[in-house]
Amino acid sequence: MKTFLTTSSPKNLELFSATAEQWQDYKWQLRHRVSNLSQLKGLLNLSTEEKEGLLLTGTKLATAVTPHYFTLIDPEDENCPIRKQVIPRIEESLESPMEMADPCGEDEHMPVPGLVHRYPDRVLFLVTDRCASYCRYCTRSRVVSGVGEQKLELQWEAAFEYLENTPQVRDVLLSGGDPLLLSDKILDKLLTRLRKIPHIEFVRIGSRIPVFLPQRITPELCAMLRKHHPLFISIHTNHPKELTQEVKEALGRLSDSGIPIGNQSVLLRGINDNVEIQKELCQKLLMCRVKPYYLYQCDLIKGSEHLRTSIKEGIKIMEGLRGHTSGYAIPQYVIDAPGGGGKIPINPEYIVSADDEKVILRNYEGKQYAYPEPRKELTINSK
Ligand SMILES: *Cc1c(COP(=O)(O)O)cnc(C)c1O
Repeated sequence: MKTFLTTSSPKNLELFSATAEQWQDYKWQLRHRVSNLSQLKGLLNLSTEEKEGLLLTGTKLATAVTPHYFTLIDPEDENCPIRKQVIPRIEESLESPMEMADPCGEDEHMPVPGLVHRYPDRVLFLVTDRCASYCRYCTRSRVVSGVGEQKLELQWEAAFEYLENTPQVRDVLLSGGDPLLLSDKILDKLLTRLRKIPHIEFVRIGSRIPVFLPQRITPELCAMLRKHHPLFISIHTNHPKELTQEVKEALGRLSDSGIPIGNQSVLLRGINDNVEIQKELCQKLLMCRVKPYYLYQCDLIKGSEHLRTSIKEGIKIMEGLRGHTSGYAIPQYVIDAPGGGGKIPINPEYIVSADDEKVILRNYEGKQYAYPEPRKELTINSK
């Protein structure tokens, strides 16, 4: 049976000297984030690689972990899949020649700073550079957390003007950083302004807040968001352990507000790079009313090689999902093409051969089937 742990156990509250009420307060969670070596030394049995990582990688991407997420870490095991996502390691300072500061080529597709317009009908709008916690493989570490090599320029007014004057944009994706870190009031203003643009049909928010800081998903936030439908949310979970009771309830509040939720995962070495973990994650997501949307091959971000898997491995995982579990539980595996080509779907090959007459297919068990193509000319046997 799948279990949803709670993080507000007496043991965890004691670890952070918190009352049950404080634990539920997202502002308290943000103020008490774990963010440096001296705090971490008291909480985890740190390895040399982690200690050096904490000292030497702080100029690239800040460290921050909410108490809620922190309590999911195994304090004794440096290979803990939760730990590896948020605790820096010295390997982050290694750079392979193919790695980039802007692996998806976003900066070249910005008509206005912070607004990425790569596809014909939709844009990515970066509205903040801060998150509740920082993922060590962040694809936008060049701007996210405020310590990296670039600063995210926020020119909302110029972005609104561009959107007003670009009628082919019908879909706006808010991201960053994490948009749900903005106050209800500012988010409401932002969404109201976007909703005033008649050709914008569809708005979505990319956020890891439901996972890092489920306490932020307050009834007030949900009441505000539901005024702006059709609104979708894409969350980001990588491991079944991240789906706690608190997270499940927060996702339930969003769903009850009429917000369809998808999940985006990143395939990460030693974290979720096997079929069993992916299957459990995707099935647990369905239990939380979340549809697995994308599984990303890890971008070629600087200092991420220790977390990247091979594409072959990714295909093998997809092979192990299709047919073996609910179709609803299966994400699309994609690679965001290095250099700015956008997302490219990657699938196991199910076509064995094809000619004008028929296509030979194989199913998930490896059995082969022929599908005859329709004939070009049909002869009617008239009397
Ligand atoms: C991912 C992304 C989108 C959205 O792509 P979908 O496949 O529609 O989810 C839009 N713009 C940019 C620049 C993106 O990276």
